[in-house]
Amino acid sequence: MSQREWIEKDFYKELGVSSSASAEEIKKAYRKLARDNHPDANPGNAKAEEKFKAVSEANAVLTDPAKRKEYDEARRLFASGGFGRQGAGGFSPGAGGFGGGGQTFDVGDIFGQGGGDGGIGDLFGGLFNRGGTQQRTASSRPRRGSDVETETTLGFREATQGVTVPLRLTSPSSCTTCHGSGAKPGTSPRVCPKCNGAGVINRNQGAFGFSEPCDDCRGTGSIIDDPCADCRGTGVQNRTRTITVRVPPGVSDGQKIRLAGQGEAGLRGAPSGDLFVTVRVRADKVFGRDGDNLTVTVPVSYGELVLGTTLSVPTLDGRVGVKVPPGTVDGRVLRVRGRGVPKKTGTPGDLMVTVKVAVPQKLDDPATEALNAYLEAEKASGFDPRAGWAGA
Ligand SMILES: [Zn+2]
Ligand SMILES: [Zn+2]
Repeated sequence: MSQREWIEKDFYKELGVSSSASAEEIKKAYRKLARDNHPDANPGNAKAEEKFKAVSEANAVLTDPAKRKEYDEARRLFASGGFGRQGAGGFSPGAGGFGGGGQTFDVGDIFGQGGGDGGIGDLFGGLFNRGGTQQRTASSRPRRGSDVETETTLGFREATQGVTVPLRLTSPSSCTTCHGSGAKPGTSPRVCPKCNGAGVINRNQGAFGFSEPCDDCRGTGSIIDDPCADCRGTGVQNRTRTITVRVPPGVSDGQKIRLAGQGEAGLRGAPSGDLFVTVRVRADKVFGRDGDNLTVTVPVSYGELVLGTTLSVPTLDGRVGVKVPPGTVDGRVLRVRGRGVPKKTGTPGDLMVTVKVAVPQKLDDPATEALNAYLEAEKASGFDPRAGWAGA
């Protein structure tokens, strides 16, 4: 999950508490919402499941004092406008198109290669990444699923014009039998009585307060009396799924596409991770890419450059006539506006046409004769190709 996305979420609002709410208030709000929206209490209710996941995520951050502090800090900085806010759209999977074997997802974000993603990721890079010191020792705690990376190779024209590709993924997903709760269908996990659902036990020894993971629930805050047989209580199953990804026009080799929520399933109702797809683009026989511009090299004769001509040049969706003015030098680049790489929004790139003289390797007698006559006439008219050349 990108830090930006996390920061844009309002965990307080999700739980219906103020940002100055006490730990006790947060715990209370979470417990009520989790109970009301639990998948077992709302079978087949996707909205409730969504809410259940959202409040679990909010709870996981806000009940961890260190995480809450960092979250508050990050939001404060973010709200102060220090960072360019990028379009928040595209987070939800494309509506419609559901059914059958796969689902179609619109791409949430495209990241450039390298560090193009800008400030937030860099500044808060250490904030919520997995595997760091933030990692809870209790692995069975509700925990957001890991991000998953995969790769897909597209043809040049597919990549420039946009394409819909199927991706086969085998990854841990939310268990379909228990909806990720880990409890046998018909039963629910109950709130751990020892820790009251907090997952941690606070001990006071003299002047010092300690927190440690609760033994009874192994830090999860809930106890599963009847584990789901299909996932053995983890809420996660290995599944192979095919998802259809709509790749927008204009992706280039090495770019990453993010599909929010399509990564590894979260543990025990926590949100899923994201899926990152690295796009590889095969080379094309005719076109090259220079950013949003499409490049093409057209062979021409010397005579065409001298006298000028109109070339028929291929484009992504047909052909275009390109005027070569008289006296055009070899290697000149002619620009055809708007016929380059299409873009999801905004103006498309340009088509950059390079003219390159093709020199005949063999001429028949009449052509040789004519060329000799021409060279003489050219000389007589005063043209010397090496006039003014420093090497003369
Ligand atoms: Zn299960
Ligand atoms: Zn407990």
